[in-house]
Amino acid sequence: MADRYALALHGGAGPKPGEDYSVTEAHLADLAKRGEEMLKTGISSLDVVEKMVAEMEISGLYVAGKGSAPNTAGQVELDASIMDGSTQNAGAVSAIRDVVSPITVARAVLSNSSCVMITGEGANSFAKEQGLEGIDNPSEYYVLPIGVSQEDIEQDDMMHGTVGAVALDIHGNLAAATSTGGVFGKPAGRVGDTPIIGIGTWADQKIALSCTGTGEYFIRAGGALTAANGYKLAGDTLEQALWRMLDEVERLGGDGGLIAVNEKGEIAMAFNSDGMKRAAVSSSSELVSTTFAPCR
Ligand code: ASP
Repeated sequence: MADRYALALHGGAGPKPGEDYSVTEAHLADLAKRGEEMLKTGISSLDVVEKMVAEMEISGLYVAGKGSAPNTAGQVELDASIMDGSTQNAGAVSAIRDVVSPITVARAVLSNSSCVMITGEGANSFAKEQGLEGIDNPSEYYVLPIGVSQEDIEQDDMMHGTVGAVALDIHGNLAAATSTGGVFGKPAGRVGDTPIIGIGTWADQKIALSCTGTGEYFIRAGGALTAANGYKLAGDTLEQALWRMLDEVERLGGDGGLIAVNEKGEIAMAFNSDGMKRAAVSSSSELVSTTFAPCR
């Protein structure tokens, strides 16, 4: 057993310049500290990324879980996915409604079903069967996250937010998890990159990644697996691999960011948007939590 570990979190690549995200940065720093403690005690990367994302979902600080907004049909539809790098088992839900923690449902898909993704009403039925917590009064539950106004959510300009976590545990295993309320003004049934394994989330024995940004562009750019293959097959450094995919997103006209850890415990974070709420810590690096500091 090595004592090497690494953890990176993101709270979305949609922050607005000029807005004060100090509360979010403090929340991410606190979460990263708690995640670090979990990793140090030998808890698996899969459990840690699920916990980190679940905490972000219930905080109401990000566009995921409690901080999500209704689609144009007036319903809040959520997407989430999680992947265990050691086995490449994965679970995802898309267009699920009114559950407290979409990532916990995705984890149950991974652990307790033979599927990788369950969508819509089927996802809600599955969550119920699994005894996972639903929201009884949606009109009172959801809140606007910091930096998001009522006008923002009424626009259909693909403004967005998401949360994600990637980790390497002391057993050498990688995992990734991502959860989102999607883009504002989305039509009913719209599904972005977040719940698609290989696009919004990926983990194998060498690399774990979580993406955030305008999902349509990430799907068209090949998403997380494009970066993973850059690292594994093309000899890219971790950072180069992230930019390989993100530059393609940009070429297509999209924006966003992604975080990654590799099997050596290196961490890379990249974004081409105005900022990306993020935090990272590892056995060889101090905790950082920031939003707008450039990463290239
Ligand atoms: N990728 C998410 C989506 O398109 C949004 C985001 O990451 O901000 O649904």
